[in-house]
Amino acid sequence: MNTQNTQNTKLNTDSFNFANFATDDIAARVAAVQARIAAACIAVGRDPSEVRLLPVSKTHPAAAVYALWQASGITRFAENKVQELAKKQNELASIAPLTWALIGHLQTNKAGAAAVAAAEFQALDSIRIAAALERRLSELERSLDVLIEVNTSGEVSKWGLAAAEVAAFAQALTAYPHLKVRGLMTVAAPDLNDAERGFAALAGLRETLLAQGAPGEWNELSMGMSNDFETAIRYGSSCVRIGTAIFGARG
Ligand SMILES: *Cc1c(COP(=O)(O)O)cnc(C)c1O
Repeated sequence: MNTQNTQNTKLNTDSFNFANFATDDIAARVAAVQARIAAACIAVGRDPSEVRLLPVSKTHPAAAVYALWQASGITRFAENKVQELAKKQNELASIAPLTWALIGHLQTNKAGAAAVAAAEFQALDSIRIAAALERRLSELERSLDVLIEVNTSGEVSKWGLAAAEVAAFAQALTAYPHLKVRGLMTVAAPDLNDAERGFAALAGLRETLLAQGAPGEWNELSMGMSNDFETAIRYGSSCVRIGTAIFGARG
């Protein structure tokens, strides 16, 4: 790091409001979550390196993201709204080498902003959004990793495709070459038994898509949040999206 960057770092971090949270607490909490992920993997004979911890920083300040990066070295963070993602990305751009995942439903009129700011979009569930993303991505000459969101919770979530729709959707996505299909994502039902059925269903769907040779990579199964990630890991999760257990309760 050259002198000028060091000065920028000092300038920018000094402007953060560190009074809103305790850096030590974040470091301890992320270490505890990492230990729980490792234990959950080992319990089912999985290598802990197979499971990515994706911290969800929504509603928490950029300073909390900065503290977590410093404590853990984690460089990809997630937000569920594109405006909030872009704001934190801008706040941190000159001081931390971060990339961003968008994990929430996207409106068509925000697809352009998402195409600019996100490295990964985990909630793709409509051709309209796919077409809007493709248009902007092709102008930007960049590609975007996408996960198809699947509704495994019935009435609980209004987002995501039914499992039976995913193969045809994946086929339709071949018309959008700047979208790189990496796998599936689900937001499970709050009830742990229902969540477990949802995780099993998502893992089963992945097997079906692989067996059918559906176009896409299907390496990613993004499932598991603060209250159910160990169960999700048992069912093969490759990416756990954790907010509360790291950053504390949302205000
Ligand atoms: C907020 C959010 C999470 C994290 O939830 P926690 O229970 O705080 O861990 C995960 N996934 C999505 C899609 C979210 O919106």
